[in-house]
Amino acid sequence: MNDRTAYTGIDYFRLGAALLVIAIHTSPLASISEGADFFLTRIAARVAVPFFMMASGFFLISQYAFDNRKLKTFLKKTAVIYGISILVCLPLNLYNGYFSGAHLLPKLLQDLIFDGTLYHLWYLPASMLGAGIAWLAVRKLGLKKALLTALLLYGIGLFGDSYYGLAAGISPLNGFYGQLFEVMDYTRNGLFFAPVFFVMGGMAAEECARGKGCPLQSAGAGFFLSFLLMCWEGTLLHGAGIPRHDSMYLFLLPCMYFLFRLLIAWRGSRREGLRTCALVLYIIHPVLIVGVRLGAKLSGLEKLLIENSLVHFLAVVLLSAAVAVGAAALSKRRKRNRGISRVPGKERAWIELDLDNLRHNAETLKKAMQPGCELMAVLKAQAYGHGMYETAVTLARMGVRAFAVATIEEGIRLRRYGISGEILILGYTHPERAGELAGYDLTQTLIGYQYARLLNRQRRPVKVHIKVDTGMHRLGFDKEDAEKIVRVCSMRNLNIQGIYTHLCAADSLKQEDVGFTEGQIGSFYELLGMLEENGISIPKVHIQSSYGLLNYPELSCDYVRAGIALYGVYSSLGAQTRLDLDLRPVLSLKSRVVLIRHIEKGESVGYGRAFTAHRESRIAVLPAGYGDGLPRNLSAGRLKAVIRGQSAPVVGRICMDQLMVDITGIEGVCVGDTATLIGRDNKLQVRAEDLAERGESITNELLSRMGERLVRTTAGA
Ligand SMILES: *Cc1c(COP(=O)(O)O)cnc(C)c1O
Repeated sequence: MNDRTAYTGIDYFRLGAALLVIAIHTSPLASISEGADFFLTRIAARVAVPFFMMASGFFLISQYAFDNRKLKTFLKKTAVIYGISILVCLPLNLYNGYFSGAHLLPKLLQDLIFDGTLYHLWYLPASMLGAGIAWLAVRKLGLKKALLTALLLYGIGLFGDSYYGLAAGISPLNGFYGQLFEVMDYTRNGLFFAPVFFVMGGMAAEECARGKGCPLQSAGAGFFLSFLLMCWEGTLLHGAGIPRHDSMYLFLLPCMYFLFRLLIAWRGSRREGLRTCALVLYIIHPVLIVGVRLGAKLSGLEKLLIENSLVHFLAVVLLSAAVAVGAAALSKRRKRNRGISRVPGKERAWIELDLDNLRHNAETLKKAMQPGCELMAVLKAQAYGHGMYETAVTLARMGVRAFAVATIEEGIRLRRYGISGEILILGYTHPERAGELAGYDLTQTLIGYQYARLLNRQRRPVKVHIKVDTGMHRLGFDKEDAEKIVRVCSMRNLNIQGIYTHLCAADSLKQEDVGFTEGQIGSFYELLGMLEENGISIPKVHIQSSYGLLNYPELSCDYVRAGIALYGVYSSLGAQTRLDLDLRPVLSLKSRVVLIRHIEKGESVGYGRAFTAHRESRIAVLPAGYGDGLPRNLSAGRLKAVIRGQSAPVVGRICMDQLMVDITGIEGVCVGDTATLIGRDNKLQVRAEDLAERGESITNELLSRMGERLVRTTAGA
């Protein structure tokens, strides 16, 4: 799992769906049996277009993915594809006399919006309209009400499509649909058909983000059953002569629901090319249908290529596929030239995440907490260098519902990853960003009275936690300031959800530090008592961070804000804690040997000639440096890489992008060998605590500096 989560099932089914659309337009089974043809093209293949729409909705709409830019990009991209498709298909329009009909302008407008300028192109304007409607509805009404609205629209569409015969017999309805069909050819369009599938796609994404899913067996059984029912429905309606058109069935909805659950269960590596292939198949095939017909006429092969419907279908598929594969290859090449590509297994230096250990740590912390207390996972600074996306998604999937970050940008980022639940911003946010706080449903820390007043003045309802300074003297209301906090509680636009303080010496078990910490805790509860006397009780109360839990586990709060312990390391070496938990490191840092050189006795290595060989030496160059978060003060042997299970000390100074290690005593080192800088290689383990100590810092700093340049790979995903 990485930032480009791979839904292999969706990728593959794109291809299947494109083939189904070609089948609709070529009727492969027509020359075999009328019944089989009806079943394939009028019923079974009807899952294709809804699938495309759900897939778009899945990546576009989920409750918190209210990122306007995403919608804009989608609309722009679809509009461009629509434009190109119109141009590609223009010869066909010319050929079939499109432009010589009467009322050209209104017809053109109607087609552009609803019906498409060629029969299959309706899908593109429908996607734009449907996506827009669904997105707005979800934003304004929430997912559930948006679904109801979209279902209502679908219902109206239904009676203009497969159930038209029923509506046509009732006079006001008859009139209504009469009017409707003045403006559109079918109800199977962006207004009545598409929105529901976009919303359903969004709901599936929301489920995924929460780690809830439909068990595979029930999805399979559900799909099978609803597909059968849809076949029955289609046959029945057809037999009774009710449909005006046969795109919209009642059972198409559950059918799509379960089909999509089946597809998202199949995860693996991403198949980007399939997406382009499917799209090109979709756009180009009508042109090639005509091409095949023309070719058959010219070569006299009509009997084979046209009259045999199956061969005709295959010919169209093969030709379209050839074009599609070519186009996909071209687009891949373009992307590669334009974008930055990370080639898995070929990184210069990378972080390996053990997500099983992350899950284990979260469980271990939860078990150590008092009953009723919840884990608030602290994900600031790229989750202490571990990568916010990987950690957030893993924790959300296992049911963690509260997160803390340092900045509003980090909070928004979490929402864009589809994280729901509470997100508390621990630090300062400019009060004028209250709109974003409200829009993304983020909870802001009130860092003081003046700040609270400014935030309240923005007239946007914002969720907040009150921070109390009990002795750290960093952020927060003064612990004596009950009166000001009472005033804050009556501010109209501040929705007070919690109150907390932060301990500044909880990691130390020295007597004076314990005394100080107990003082902090005591005065915090005293303040809560005073508030209560004023009739104020605040829902969530929290005090402990990692060491707060490890050394003061008896405190009974609503949250533990755990950072460093979640990542399975202690802040520093040899710190005694009252709880002794089995926490396991999540992060390893690795690089590889890219060059080996021989150094004569007396020659120097690196900047400032800080290292001089006292013997003939072999030196390996590793492409990782302080630009990747390895502190420069770990130079000259303080950092030791593990190569082939043996320790290789850094020689000379660590550079921004490179470091050099001495491998003289290690047998058989080759270019390409992995070098472990943090983590385990066979029996040797380099602990983050150890490195932090040598660098005269703590792991919190060491890890959180492994910011952006390192690639992250995952195990246990
Ligand atoms: C960073 C932070 C935490 C997490 O601290 P750890 O020691 O990493 O668990 C908790 N609370 C606040 C206010 C913080 O800033």
